[in-house]
Amino acid sequence: MKCILCKQYSLKLICKSCQNSFLEPKLSERTLADGFKIYSFYHYHEIEDLLTTKHTHIGSAIYTILAQLAFKRFANAFSFINPVYAIAIDDHVKNGYSHTAVLTKALKSKDIVPLFASLRAQNNITYSGRSLEYRLQNPRRFSYSYKSDIDAILVDDIVTSTMTINEAKNTLLKNAVNPLFALTLADAREE
Ligand SMILES: [Zn+2]
Repeated sequence: MKCILCKQYSLKLICKSCQNSFLEPKLSERTLADGFKIYSFYHYHEIEDLLTTKHTHIGSAIYTILAQLAFKRFANAFSFINPVYAIAIDDHVKNGYSHTAVLTKALKSKDIVPLFASLRAQNNITYSGRSLEYRLQNPRRFSYSYKSDIDAILVDDIVTSTMTINEAKNTLLKNAVNPLFALTLADAREE
């Protein structure tokens, strides 16, 4: 096949050379009002063309490559005293896979246990293109279905307004889960 970026022949959808040249992750952070941190590996515009493959037939393969480059490396460098649970935010399957589940799975390590289908939105609306007012009036109403008294990392693919992550984090707190921080693939904040 051909690399989708440089069009050279490649065994992967994105060749090793392009992975190294264009997809080196660089952590950026955002801090919520209560001090909770959200770390992102890329800026949205840096990988926009790749993120828009999400709902196409190559979406799953592209997300898997990005997950290996960013989340897997992070997991290999991360250590903690107790096991930490990586919780996928609203990992519903769309177009044959769940993008947040792909990212969360790549965090599996000696200290991180990925959790799936444990934090689901009751309100299945999309915030994309919606106003802040609309988002405030239509919370996602997450329900959590795993044990309490654990440390957790929240996982999402894109952070825009931080409202989803904030609501997910508050849901964990209500369930006596200790959210350490959130990890997202891309930060879509406007500069
Ligand atoms: Zn290439």
